[in-house]
Amino acid sequence: MSTIIKLENIVKRFYEGQENELEILHGISLEVEEGEFVAIVGPSGSGKSTLMNMIGVLDRPTSGTYILDGINVGDADDSELSDIRNQKIGFVFQTYNLISKTNALKNIELPMLYKGTDRNTRIKRAKELLELVEMGDRAKHLPEELSGGQKQRVAIARAMANDPAIILADEPTGALDSKTGRLVMDLFHKLNKEKNKTIVLITHSNELASETDRIISIKDGNIVDIKPGNGSRTEKQENIPVKNEIEEAKTDIIITEDCEEKSEEMKIENSIEEKYNDVEEIKDSTKEEKDSTKENNDNVSFDSGNDNCISNNNDEILEEKNIHANDLENKSENDDGIINNPNNDNENGEEK
Ligand code: ADP
Ligand code: MG
Repeated sequence: MSTIIKLENIVKRFYEGQENELEILHGISLEVEEGEFVAIVGPSGSGKSTLMNMIGVLDRPTSGTYILDGINVGDADDSELSDIRNQKIGFVFQTYNLISKTNALKNIELPMLYKGTDRNTRIKRAKELLELVEMGDRAKHLPEELSGGQKQRVAIARAMANDPAIILADEPTGALDSKTGRLVMDLFHKLNKEKNKTIVLITHSNELASETDRIISIKDGNIVDIKPGNGSRTEKQENIPVKNEIEEAKTDIIITEDCEEKSEEMKIENSIEEKYNDVEEIKDSTKEEKDSTKENNDNVSFDSGNDNCISNNNDEILEEKNIHANDLENKSENDDGIINNPNNDNENGEEK
C-alpha cells in the first residue's frame, strides 16, 4: 500500500492578518494509505470540515504541505486544483448537494460532463453507478422525488462518477435516521472493499467510526488521538445472523470493473438515445424550448460554481458545458413527462 494523502503540519487561519484572525487547524500531520477507510471524529467546531476542505483541495492551507497521490497540491494553480478535485476526489455531503432540477441519472453524469467524457460513456457509467448504489429504478427521478437515503445514494454514485481514488464524506449520515444511515454506511464499506476506494469519513457516530480501519479524533484544531477501528463491517457481517433486507436482495447485482451492460440498462439507454436524437429538433422547434435552454445554461453555470467537482475557470470548458447542458435540459424536459406519469405512488420517502 502506498500513501495517498499526506498532510504535513497543516495550519489553517481565517481572516489572516486581521484583528479577528482565527487559527482553526494548528498543524495537522496525517497520512492515509491507499484503500484505507478512516473516520474523523470530534466535537462540533473542532475543525473537521475545515480539514476535509484541505484534504479535498476545496481550500488551501495557510501553511504546511499536502501531497495528494504524489502531487504537491501547493504547487498547483486553481485550474489544476479543479482538475485534481474532479478526477481524484468524490465528495459526499450531509445535505446531498444534488442539483434539484436534474434527475438522478444526470446528477451522476455531471462530474463526467465537466471532465469532458462523451455522452454515451457518461450515460452508460451513470447507469452502472445507479445500479451500484441500488437505485437503478430511480434514474429519471428528481431529487425531490427521492427519500433522504435515496438522495444520498445518488450523491455517492455521483461521487464515484470519475472513478476517484478518494471519497470524502462529511457527516453523510447526519441527516438520516439510523437505519438509513446504516445502508449508506454499508455502501461505503462496499466501495472500500470492492472498489478499493480510500474513504475519509467525518462522523458524529462513534458506532460508525468504530467500523472503519482507523479513528482520528480532532479537538480544537489538533489531532488528539488516533486509534485502530474494528475494520470493515463486511467482514463483521459474516458473524451477524440478521442481514438487512436490502443487502440480501442484492445478491443479483454483480459489480464488475468493466461494468458490463445489463439488459434493463439497455432498455433505458435505448429510450434515452431516442430522446437525444430528438434533441436538436426539439431545441429549435418552439420558443419555450429556447427559454428553457437559456434557463438551463444559467442554472448549470450557477450550479457549477457551487459544485465541488467542477472547474469553472476555463471558458472553453464553460462553453462546452453549456452545449452539453442544453442536451441535458432538453432531455430533462422529456423526462419530466415520464416522471410525472404513473408509478409515483411508491415515492413516499421510505426506503424499500
Ligand atoms: P466542524 O466541522 O468540526 O464542526 P468546522 O471545520 O466547520 O468544524 O469549523 C471549525 C471552526 O472554524 C468554527 O469555529 C468555524 O466557525 C470556523 N470556520 C470554518 N470555516 C470558516 C470560514 N470560512 N471563515 C471563518 N471561520 C470559519
Ligand atoms: Mg463540519
